[in-house]
Amino acid sequence: TGAPAVVLAVAGLRRSFSGLTAVDGIDFEVRAGEVVSVIGPNGSGKTTTLNLVSGVIRADSGRVSLGGTRIDRSTVEEIAAAGLARTFQNGRVFGGLTVAENVEVGLYPTRRAARPLRRLARLPVLRWLALVAEVAVALVPTRAVRAEQAEVAARVTAQLARFHERLAPRRDNQAHTLSYANRRRTEIARALASGPRLLLLDEPTAGMNQTETAEVLDQLLALKAAGQTMLLVEHKLDLVMALSDRVLVMDNGRIIAAGPPHQVRNDPAVIEAYLGR
Ligand code: ADP
Repeated sequence: TGAPAVVLAVAGLRRSFSGLTAVDGIDFEVRAGEVVSVIGPNGSGKTTTLNLVSGVIRADSGRVSLGGTRIDRSTVEEIAAAGLARTFQNGRVFGGLTVAENVEVGLYPTRRAARPLRRLARLPVLRWLALVAEVAVALVPTRAVRAEQAEVAARVTAQLARFHERLAPRRDNQAHTLSYANRRRTEIARALASGPRLLLLDEPTAGMNQTETAEVLDQLLALKAAGQTMLLVEHKLDLVMALSDRVLVMDNGRIIAAGPPHQVRNDPAVIEAYLGR
């Protein structure tokens, strides 16, 4: 038995932007099945931390490991294939694609037919060639491809069922016609499609009203109950307290407190960082 496996390990992570240190040497772990929230005042380094972990930006120093494998020098595609999925602060979906197609995009890191071609695509010059080859492969109706297409359709349906009243009826609608809350749900469904080891959520309820926030909280609690490991940045403390196993409090690029929600809430350093200025 013992403690659950470490899914994400971050050590000595640091990143500056032209002289300003956004993330100033942080260390933390996320274990299997845990929900860890990052809170802190604006500008404290929360989003930069998510961007460093997911490979959107590079660290100046420090290391990030996912399931024991270093990912801090890997590409976004490699990190996704290693089992990390994320959502963005403002909800990025492909407006011209349908809801189902958006979710299908999320399956890409795990699609078998695409794998060898993606390795080829590491060379930038060959990227377009790989794309052409992938389309060609998709057009050849081999048995393997047909089987994979059926599997993709089943996985998309399963993801949409998670958000049944909201997304399933809108399966074939273009994403740009959706409400803001439904675009954000679509983004979460897309991130979950690949069955990620770790789900990163950047303010999953930003811009949502109370009803929508409560509904997303219910969905995230259901995900947690299903064992999904999550790391999120969130401003709404009620949601953080209800959802998190542990909370990391950032201020000025550092983690100034970490622990279970009730403990962190009463920490004098946390109260000072939030209220003392
Ligand atoms: P938070 O998410 O906690 O609000 P951020 O991680 O977005 O904080 O930002 C931390 C600090 O780094 C802020 O001072 C911000 O202005 C700065 N910063 C973040 N990204 C960049 C960037 N791309 N270029 C310059 N400064 C940045």
